[in-house]
Amino acid sequence: MYLRDEAIVLQNVVWREHDAHVTLFGREHGKMLAIARGARRWQAKHRGHIDALNQIEVMLASGTTHETMAVARSLRARPQLRSLLSVVSVAGQAADRVSRLTEPHAAEPLVFDVLQELLNVCQAQTQEWTAERSRCMLAACTLKLLDALGYAPELEQCHRCHLSMNEDVGFAERPFALVCRACADRTMQTAPSFSLRLIRFLRRRSLTDCLAVTVEIPALRFACDFIESCYREHVPLKDLQERIPCSLLCS
Ligand SMILES: [Zn+2]
Repeated sequence: MYLRDEAIVLQNVVWREHDAHVTLFGREHGKMLAIARGARRWQAKHRGHIDALNQIEVMLASGTTHETMAVARSLRARPQLRSLLSVVSVAGQAADRVSRLTEPHAAEPLVFDVLQELLNVCQAQTQEWTAERSRCMLAACTLKLLDALGYAPELEQCHRCHLSMNEDVGFAERPFALVCRACADRTMQTAPSFSLRLIRFLRRRSLTDCLAVTVEIPALRFACDFIESCYREHVPLKDLQERIPCSLLCS
């Protein structure tokens, strides 16, 4: 049986001498694990098409444990994305997070849309991002992925009293919950001004809008730390070490 889809290559890992293990995220089929036989030979038909972060049209032959790549053709390579180290790093980390947060063959079209939007934004960049800009973009993308997967953190109601939270008085209770000022106790970290407003902005607005955001560093740090904590709630402990495929940095 064959399976066709439009997919983004999340990872491409060398396997044996000439083969590759490829992790794909399909618009219709979600995460797929495929073996590309002979992909590393010079004359291989897949060569150049299945690099990480490429958007491809793919046909896979179904197997019991994995798929085998039958046909792969580039739809969008986005070469500009690879020319800026800070930008490709964020895109690579986002792809890695998609892989960690999803199960094979669970259709998640909203996740596909978020990743595609990020890659389009990355492709449009002409200069390196600062460390803060990179953190902000990864956080914005991560929050949108969590929302798309049904792991959306609560940003409107207090975790304890369930009343609406005022814009600028968010407190972290556990690392991943916010409470209002009335419910906060002395053990809790105080959110700097604009933190909650920033997190809500990152949720609601496009990644292009998120790229243009300017905010004080403490608020940015709080927002990014909060989103990071929410992400780590949903990733198995053994997987906490972040990976950026070295193939991405070399291509
Ligand atoms: Zn409260």
